[in-house]
Amino acid sequence: MTPLSNIDLAPYTSFRIHAVAEYFTKATTIDELLEAVAWARTQGLPMHILGGGSNVLLTKTVKGLVIHIRLMERVASIEGTRVTVRIGAGETWHNIVSWMVDRGWGGLENLALIPGTVGAAPMQNIGAYGVEQASCFVELDAIDVATGESRTFTKDECAFGYRESVFKRELRDRYVITAVTYRLSTDPVIHAGYRDVSDELSLRGIVQPTVGDIYACVIAIRQRKLPDPRLIGNAGSFFKNPVVSASVASALRDQYPLLPLYQQPDGSSKLAAAWLIDQCGWKGAREGDAGVHAHQALVLVNHGSADGAQIIDLATRIQQSVHDRFGVDLEREVNVW
Ligand SMILES: Cc1cc2nc3c(=O)[nH]c(=O)nc-3n(C[C@H](O)[C@H](O)[C@H](O)COP(=O)(O)OP(=O)(O)OC[C@H]3O[C@@H](n4cnc5c(N)ncnc54)[C@H](O)[C@@H]3O)c2cc1C
Repeated sequence: MTPLSNIDLAPYTSFRIHAVAEYFTKATTIDELLEAVAWARTQGLPMHILGGGSNVLLTKTVKGLVIHIRLMERVASIEGTRVTVRIGAGETWHNIVSWMVDRGWGGLENLALIPGTVGAAPMQNIGAYGVEQASCFVELDAIDVATGESRTFTKDECAFGYRESVFKRELRDRYVITAVTYRLSTDPVIHAGYRDVSDELSLRGIVQPTVGDIYACVIAIRQRKLPDPRLIGNAGSFFKNPVVSASVASALRDQYPLLPLYQQPDGSSKLAAAWLIDQCGWKGAREGDAGVHAHQALVLVNHGSADGAQIIDLATRIQQSVHDRFGVDLEREVNVW
């Protein structure tokens, strides 16, 4: 294998920030992936796995080998109302959701239009509008970068949480996900309870929504609310919504009655990070080409030629002001390279 060298990663990431990968290759088959992993290992170089680049912020030259995952596969089997699909890690997430919805296979329609690849979805357990990918997840296949051996992870072994999995924590940078298996249904439970979704359904006069209705509503909501990375560089939510204890939540509510908070099954509360940031006056702020989106304070944007350091600087000051005002720490959702 001969990797390319000094490749600008801006076109491969949704923030569109220029930074060079020392070495770069694409893996379209498992053999190509194994070859790339072995090459980096024998050269003693670090490896970085890149999917759609929609959750990565580039801050400097990326040392070592970037492997762009392009593993394509779609296999489905149907048994009664149960549909099991195995999807290659390089498939585009939204294309796969559309493919499922077209066939009437329900379960992941609330996650329409999330950018990125299928292989990255378990990584941070993507979620939106009341559903996480974990709800349909069965298992995934991955390759151990230290040995090149393949291994299957069950749902329990992935330890999914809110924008979390074992691959973001204990096993960070240890495995390349190669395929993911989901279980869907031709007679699915419809998740229409999320406020934005139920409002959109009412607006459309839909009382008994189908999988296709939810899919269409979610797309419409996202197109209205979120900046399109093709038009303005961003990586979606830059921060996670902070989860605080019941006592902290109730003290904050007493002080700020309008603070949106969502009670979790374990008694803790999830706070709306966008609201906290907005209250600190950051919505629409711009410093050079680094900014906060005008309609969604959780999304940091690159107006054109911002670099990673400028985005990090802005993010750090936002974290500081939220901490100073509310005593709450915002954790980054985006992966910083
Ligand atoms: C406009 C916008 C809206 C978004 N909305 C949402 C949302 O609603 N909900 C949500 O959860 N996220 C959202 N995101 C974040 C992003 O879409 C998801 O995190 C997505 O899963 C990232 O996929 P990717 O292929 O682009 O990953 P990348 O950005 O390429 O990689 C992200 C991380 O995963 C690792 N990784 C990627 N592929 C693999 C693999 N095959 N094996 C092992 N590790 C891998 C990378 O090394 C990196 O650490 C949004 C982003 C944007 C730009």
